[in-house]
Amino acid sequence: METILGIDLGTTNSEVAVVKENGEVYVFREDGNPILPSVVGLDDHGELLVGVAARNQYVLAPDRTIKSIKRQMGQDIKVKLGSQEFRPEEISAMILRKLKDRAEKELGYAVSKAVITVPAFFSEIQREATRQAGELAGLEVVRIINEPTAAALTYEPHPTDVERLLVYDLGGGTFDVSIVQIENGVVEVLSSHGDTQLGGDDFDQLLFDHICDRFQKEHDVDLRKSQIPKSRVLRASEEAKKQLSSEPFVQVTEEFIAEKNGTPLNLQLELARSDYEKLIMPLLTKTLTCVDQALTDSKLQVNQISKVVLVGGATRTPLVQSLLSERLSQPLHTEVNPDLGVAMGAAIQGALIAGRDVGPVLVDITPHTLGIQCLGPLYGRISTFHFSEVIPRNTALPASRTQVYTTASDEQEAAHIAVFQGEHADVRNNQMVGDFDLEGLAKVNQGNQILVRFDLDLDGILKVAAIERNTGLAQNLVIENSASLFRASNRDGKANSRLKKTFESSRHFVKTPQSAPVESTGAVLLGGTDLVDAKLSPEDRTLFQKARELVAKAQDAAQSAGTEDADELRQLATQLETALTDGNVGEVRDLSVKLEDVVFYLQDA
Ligand code: AMP
Repeated sequence: METILGIDLGTTNSEVAVVKENGEVYVFREDGNPILPSVVGLDDHGELLVGVAARNQYVLAPDRTIKSIKRQMGQDIKVKLGSQEFRPEEISAMILRKLKDRAEKELGYAVSKAVITVPAFFSEIQREATRQAGELAGLEVVRIINEPTAAALTYEPHPTDVERLLVYDLGGGTFDVSIVQIENGVVEVLSSHGDTQLGGDDFDQLLFDHICDRFQKEHDVDLRKSQIPKSRVLRASEEAKKQLSSEPFVQVTEEFIAEKNGTPLNLQLELARSDYEKLIMPLLTKTLTCVDQALTDSKLQVNQISKVVLVGGATRTPLVQSLLSERLSQPLHTEVNPDLGVAMGAAIQGALIAGRDVGPVLVDITPHTLGIQCLGPLYGRISTFHFSEVIPRNTALPASRTQVYTTASDEQEAAHIAVFQGEHADVRNNQMVGDFDLEGLAKVNQGNQILVRFDLDLDGILKVAAIERNTGLAQNLVIENSASLFRASNRDGKANSRLKKTFESSRHFVKTPQSAPVESTGAVLLGGTDLVDAKLSPEDRTLFQKARELVAKAQDAAQSAGTEDADELRQLATQLETALTDGNVGEVRDLSVKLEDVVFYLQDA
């Protein structure tokens, strides 16, 4: 059957894909990289460069390099490249030609047809310029489709019902949000809003300024003033930004970045995700306003949206995901690689035009959320059974995430890391997949930071590491196949009996993640029993204090009691402890009465 390529001709990056004979949607690569920077240049000898090489020379040779030509598509202008001048569609044709060559090299035969994507807001003139660029590159453009339509096709090529998807696309230089409806194979963009001057590059710029300000404060040298340090810091800012998507802290190190009075200066600082999130918050708020506008224009309510699809590299930012999922009150779809989804959707459209039956893109994802147990909000109270997400379900594999937690008590010597999978906020309704202790913590006040890192590979092997941030003390656990474990084991008492063991000592508690933004999850730093008590009426507080004394008394009594009585005492004491940490007043009252009876009876006996 005929091969029709799918091409995402992006402002920053471009990709080319195809649907293979076996139905797999495949993105072509060069040196292992599927992304081709949309940059064109001429080298020192006047040779044409397209992609990474052109992007790399941009800082040093801006007069011989062209970036973001997509912004000029459809304009009657010429751009200078060295001594020559080109129309925007000619520059775009150079990028398309490179993508065509890349595909043909791997396929081993020539291809002459393609589907190319454009933003939903592109005018007819801009679409026509894109078509011409394709022709100049030797491609018959069988269809131009909207980028959000392509993204929607990767998830829903043939929905049985009317599907309405919200596609949130945050790339390097542009942002748009579209509401797309698919019905009987017809895909329609109901509304689209955006900002052509907002994207991940702005996040880099904010971090760049933050880093330069800190450096200037420390050394009284402005790194913005000379070109080479400036471009080094800008590159380091983007790198740090990407790392902050999976790490709570990142070190920025650039040696000999500047000189002062003949002494070389190094850039060396730590960035926290929480600080970075504060910097980008105003920009993300702007994107949410566009989301509201797109919904209003489509005349749809949030609950009529069946899927939220993320497109564009910058949507990997955790704060983008948490804000959006909260605003739209539903989980987001992040399964398809956000850099590649549009090209994949264009390839699906190409295969459909070629008369092939194609299904949704298949990807390896985590079927369940993975996280740990900690002290945090549950049922409107503070509980030790709070499930804190580390890797949310539907995350594409392989995935790595690190969260920061803090110890709950002073001089806490150990942190118990209990790993669970499932979707419930209460760990008791999820499945425990493993646990271990990080022992020998420094004897410091509560708030000692513990980093918990999850690495999940394509085979479902989960590596969990807990690290005391200040000392580097670490402990690891490898869970061979977390997915099959979930299927194999039952969800009944097993997890609960293991949990009892877990809660024998309160020294094991760790608290909710520090970097979780208050706006998105409601998770905040919380203390131990004091905070449970703080929410109670004075009467209930007395009840709770008495109950804690009773638990201690029962445990003492169990030492000298007969086996049967001791078992009953311990069982009731554990239940009462659970009710206490859950802040469940009714249960505390009932269990206290029962436990008091048994203690009383044994004392009398
Ligand atoms: P796109 O235009 O879709 O290729 O998106 C490119 C933008 O995504 C650039 O600003 C990248 O720095 C950004 N980006 C790529 N990976 C990540 C990541 N892991 N976290 C945050 N931003 C990212």
